[in-house]
Parts: sequence; structure tokens; C-alpha cells
Amino acid sequence: MTEALYREDAYLQSADASVVAVNNRGGIVLDRSIFYPQSGGQPGDTGALTIGDTTYQIATTVYDSDRQTVIHVPADGAVLPEPGAAANQQLDWGRRHAHMRIHTALHLLCSIIPFPVTGGQIGAGDGRLDFDISDAGALDKEALTEQLNALVDGNHSISSSWIADAELEANPDLVRTMTVKPPMGTGKVRLIAIGEAGHIDLQPCGGTHVKNTSEIGRLAVTKIEKKGKQNRRVRISFA
Ligand SMILES: [Zn+2]
Repeated sequence: MTEALYREDAYLQSADASVVAVNNRGGIVLDRSIFYPQSGGQPGDTGALTIGDTTYQIATTVYDSDRQTVIHVPADGAVLPEPGAAANQQLDWGRRHAHMRIHTALHLLCSIIPFPVTGGQIGAGDGRLDFDISDAGALDKEALTEQLNALVDGNHSISSSWIADAELEANPDLVRTMTVKPPMGTGKVRLIAIGEAGHIDLQPCGGTHVKNTSEIGRLAVTKIEKKGKQNRRVRISFA
């Protein structure tokens, strides 16, 4: 199990660690990581690991099958490091920060469209959420764009706290996303609150977020698509 530094502090751009193992496909496992592993619609982080005299470009980051061990996937077949070696991690921060801004923007989108979320995807310049909603006429691109930017301009803080799995099970209304299960199994779940006491959005989430909505910047709802009988796909991008 990897210590998830990215979860404690999403703003870490570099950190030291040591190599725990190299798996049979050449993936590097560290004791602690600032690299977010692909999950919940957010892509895995890229960057570099410096180990001894070698710098490994990291093409992506994924979870092992246990969903708790983070695997850094090197871009090319360099000679792999030995367990126990000291490693310095450097994140491709521009890309990750864009993911954090889009990810947080999708929480805002979720807060203004009161329907269950059935899927989503986060990119470095745009993102989307799918909603279980039968009446597409209820959604208006311009109105949604205006509402999103008002929330961005509202300077709302984003904070996190932990609750016990049992507490979440007792409050199933907190879960907005039906297809992406909140990260459970360790006995506690992280809740993300936007605005005072989460009055704008409050839901369990394992992803990376900015600290304040103003950091997201201008947004636009670019497209509302019909995907199947009940699903509406809403796309947003940086404006
Ligand atoms: Zn989130």
C-alpha cells in the first residue's frame, strides 16, 4: 500500500521517496507518491522520477489490482531501479493543475444539475458528466455557463474531511455518482465540501481539487448531448 501524498496535499509538486518494488511489467512502486493514479475519470499523472543518475519519464500512473498500491509507469525501457533506492518525484504540474481545475468544476456542474451522475471524464482543458435525466429541455447551455461562472466568481473554499464507512452507508444521499464508487474499504471515506459546510456541494471523492473556486477560472458549457434514452452528456471547457 502506497502512502497517498496526493490525497493529503494535492499541491505537492515534488517529494522524496524510496523504491519499494519494480513489478513484472516494469512499473515502479514507491513507499509514498505525489502521482495521482488513474481513477474516477481522472487520468493518471505524468512527470519524472530521478533515481541515482537516471531520470525516468513517467508516462502514466495507475493503481495495482489492490486499488491501494500506486504504480508509476516509465515511458521507455531504461534499466530499472533496485528496491531501496532513493527517488525524487517531480510532477508535470501544469497538466495536473488543469485536471484539478476541471475536476472541481465538475463538482460545481453536479451541484447545479440535480440529477444522478452516471459517468464522467476529466481532461486537461475540458471534461464531461453524464446525467440520468429524461427531459433534455431542462438543460440550457447559456444558463448553465452563467451559473458555473457565478460559482467560480463566488470565491468558495474547498475543504476535505473524513467520515467512517458506516456513516456514509447511513447517508446514501451523499453519493451522487452511481458508477464511480467512493473509495471505501479502509474504514473511512473522504468527503469534499465546497462552500461553507458544503452548502454548494458535499460528496465523497478520492480525486484532486483546487482550494478555492476562483482558481478554476472562466468556464463554458460547450455541448449537451443525448446519450441513450435517459442520459444527457454535458461537456464543459475552460473559456
Ligand atoms: Zn472530486
